[in-house]
Amino acid sequence: MKTPLKSQSTENLRSWFENRHHPRYRVGQLLEWIYRHWAIEFDAMSNLPKALRNELAGHFDLNSVQSVDCRGEKDGTRKTLYRLRDGETVETVWIPSPRRRTVCLSTQVGCPIRCPFCASGRDGFVRDLAPDEIVDQVIHEAAREEEAPNRIVVMGIGEPLLNYENVIEALNVINAPGGMGIGARRITISTCGIVPGIRRLSKEGKQWNLSVSLHAPDSETRSVLVPAENRYPLEEVLEACQVYRDRTGRQVTFEYTLLKGINDSQKQAFQLASISRELDAKINLIPYNPVAGLPFECPDDGAIEEFVGNVEEKRGKITVRREKGGSIDAACGQLRRRP
Ligand code: SF4
Repeated sequence: MKTPLKSQSTENLRSWFENRHHPRYRVGQLLEWIYRHWAIEFDAMSNLPKALRNELAGHFDLNSVQSVDCRGEKDGTRKTLYRLRDGETVETVWIPSPRRRTVCLSTQVGCPIRCPFCASGRDGFVRDLAPDEIVDQVIHEAAREEEAPNRIVVMGIGEPLLNYENVIEALNVINAPGGMGIGARRITISTCGIVPGIRRLSKEGKQWNLSVSLHAPDSETRSVLVPAENRYPLEEVLEACQVYRDRTGRQVTFEYTLLKGINDSQKQAFQLASISRELDAKINLIPYNPVAGLPFECPDDGAIEEFVGNVEEKRGKITVRREKGGSIDAACGQLRRRP
């Protein structure tokens, strides 16, 4: 079996090159091809001698993912199904807008949290993604689009803070000047509220954005919508967010999927506003994106407006995130592995 190339440290690669009497600078050229030119074939690396390309191809496996299906919308949003080395699959979304090119990444095959309104956990949890499987989603998206993304959101399939080490290793490559060079402030990690993970993240010394899936402003409703609430209660989640904010100076964002008759009352809007004020946090309101077979509905436009008005009346900071990708099941909560 070949060695996965992107799992190798630069030091390991240097030794490999040295042992075969190739000049050291070839390692830099190789890494530049991978992370700056998103090469997904050794043969594309035109300034490496042909013999070296063959040697690399004989020893290393360059890609940990393979695109097997890609669906797009008119606005350029694309959802890609990637097959991994062991045959498992994940989905990744490319979301263009006038100033941004965003990649939404998956971090696990399936999701162990199993929020009842979300497609990602429906087929169960299989395994964590390795660092190269996370980085490769970005590289393959950039290669297909022929341009680098300038924003990464870790909001696809999986709970990133339950795959902590691999996600951080991957984000460090995506962020590193010698890697893909995407600034930490342009990377958002979304969690359902894994308290030890949030606290650990606050000590990484990085300016990553933290986004927490709140979905309810009270423990009772939240324990139905986000099963992790039973392990990490709302109060502890909010405390951890405060720590994150204090240590990093970064404003925390709360994601709030609005579900008709469940978390859209005036009382809940007022409670949400109070959380937003206390933590000086932004609320991203996501009108529910329907998932076939699930018994949840999105409130109508009037009810959404009323909810927003109620939050604003109590001085909460709220914006409505109108999702792209709904027609190809690529919006928030709609991604899934294909068993
Ligand atoms: S909402 Fe997030 S944490 Fe919950 S099942 Fe979906 S992917 Fe997992």
